[in-house]
Amino acid sequence: SGHGAHRGRFLLKLSGEAFAGGGGLGVDPDVVHKMAREIAAVVRDGAEIAVVIGGGNFFRGAELQQRGMDRARSDYMGMLGTVMNCLALQDFLENEGIDSRVQTAITMGQVAEPYIPLRAVRHLEKGRVVIFGAGMGMPYFSTDTTAAQRALEIQAQALLMGKNGVDGVYDSDPRKNPAAVKFDALEYSEVITRGLKVADATAISLCMDNKLPILVFELLAEGNIARAVKGEKIGTLVSD
Ligand code: UDP
Repeated sequence: SGHGAHRGRFLLKLSGEAFAGGGGLGVDPDVVHKMAREIAAVVRDGAEIAVVIGGGNFFRGAELQQRGMDRARSDYMGMLGTVMNCLALQDFLENEGIDSRVQTAITMGQVAEPYIPLRAVRHLEKGRVVIFGAGMGMPYFSTDTTAAQRALEIQAQALLMGKNGVDGVYDSDPRKNPAAVKFDALEYSEVITRGLKVADATAISLCMDNKLPILVFELLAEGNIARAVKGEKIGTLVSD
């Protein structure tokens, strides 16, 4: 296991959408298996990995609100959705022989530990993957913001933002505009002034205020999580 001289501590944000595979809704075990394999490889290599998973494959509060539901209640549904993703990832990590703990911001003792930052750090030091569920536990926040906050609190060296179907940050949507240009590096302020889709503004400003680097990269490309951890030049690096 990764005792002692670890090879860096990272907060990995996984897109909830990616968990659905081609399906759009729910969890595709093949995708989760693939991600677990990639995470297991870097953990065996000595990296400390904490994970935040989105919930877009189940519910997004803002979307339910548009269809007439109360926003806060919809957001709680969104947060509960993320927990299912966490349990799926935990299961496949276990199959890989990697110990993990799920810690949720909404207490649910039968399925997960409560969020206890110091305990999370101890788990990481012991070579366990810590998976943070239920976002911040608060409506009107996102899992991107959760990822930034957790990264800061556990003193991760970078936020690795895994995207579904896009290999970095572009000046316009590459799926709609074939002439879109990819950035290799960006400053936080450019992300905000140009309105680039890296993460929501709350998450970006947290990273900017605390100088936490963000690497935006394609999650599902084989070996990319390892490349991100090793600091290879993939995706787009957002920093000062
Ligand atoms: N959510 C929330 N507070 C949080 C994290 C998430 O209310 O701290 C809710 C919100 O409704 C969000 C949903 O959970 O839409 C799923 O999270 P995610 O950030 O993945 O939304 P997405 O980025 O997929 O739109």
